[in-house]
Amino acid sequence: MRTLSQIRDQDFAIATLQRAMAANKLHHAYLFEGPAGVGKRTTAQALAMALLCADDAQGCGQCRNCRRVHTGNHPDFRALAPLEGKSVISIEQIRDAERWFVLPPHESARKLLLIAPADAMTEPAANALLKTLEEPRRGHYIILSTAMSQGLLPTVRSRCQRIRFGVLANDTVVDLLQQGGLDAAEARWLAELAGGSMVKAAQYRDADLAPRLAFVSAILDGATRRTPETALMAIESLRGDREGVQAGLELLIQLLAEWLWQRAAGDTDAAKQPLTQRLDAPLQQMATSGTVRAVAQYIAAAHHAMTAIKRNNMNPQLAVEAMLMAMRGRSTDARWVRTGAR
Ligand SMILES: [Zn+2]
Repeated sequence: MRTLSQIRDQDFAIATLQRAMAANKLHHAYLFEGPAGVGKRTTAQALAMALLCADDAQGCGQCRNCRRVHTGNHPDFRALAPLEGKSVISIEQIRDAERWFVLPPHESARKLLLIAPADAMTEPAANALLKTLEEPRRGHYIILSTAMSQGLLPTVRSRCQRIRFGVLANDTVVDLLQQGGLDAAEARWLAELAGGSMVKAAQYRDADLAPRLAFVSAILDGATRRTPETALMAIESLRGDREGVQAGLELLIQLLAEWLWQRAAGDTDAAKQPLTQRLDAPLQQMATSGTVRAVAQYIAAAHHAMTAIKRNNMNPQLAVEAMLMAMRGRSTDARWVRTGAR
């Protein structure tokens, strides 16, 4: 559990909320937007503590009220999420929450409804929420939290005050992972992959990374060698494994972005980074001798492939082969794409 002042790396968001609270001008509806796993929900919970705390206008994190907010047992705080096994927030859930929301607070003068992820609301659910968003009630607050605000109805978005959340610093991710029981080396490695998101860090912690790392190695090998046959064979073996390819591409993009970041930070001794220590020859070689221009091109090509697979439903094998050719600077050579199509 964290109080507002203990939230990490979201100074702008926290200051905005604290200023509004101090001036007694908290907006009736906020939209917390930003990547997954950076503290949006934790902040909403901390705000609920601050509003409902028995002792401290900032939320003490200790009293019975704060503890009940944390455990989800405070009658004036509700967090709405998809029901277990479901991926959407239904209109029934919204109606039920609204019946609760419009009643006067049980114990205090305030109540707070958190909807997260807000983009999980079905369209009827979001429409049902509109009326409540349009009629502010003194002391009643709604927070919508989302990593994909474009997934919300514009009518819902426009009724909320938006607060942006950014990614966490690498050191913060390392700290939080270590607080969760990981050793320092493991925490540093995961933080490099996580791109400032605790959700991503947890995904990588729980995933079997070996096949993804093999994929990344094969791609970089194919991108830099004189002939790409080995890489093409590796890609061939992933045929039909849509999720495997996407996970591999995501890791590739993350590693390349991290490489660029380290370069930009003036860290020329890349060989010492936990990142390069985990990978075999191709990436190590690139890490030491690659150019910023080439790596930026690789990232663009990988993004392109990811989009082609996700949005345009392209055959993953085909998309990756086209990516490889783009990385090799032969993007216009349709012969390779055709060969891959088979
Ligand atoms: Zn308290």
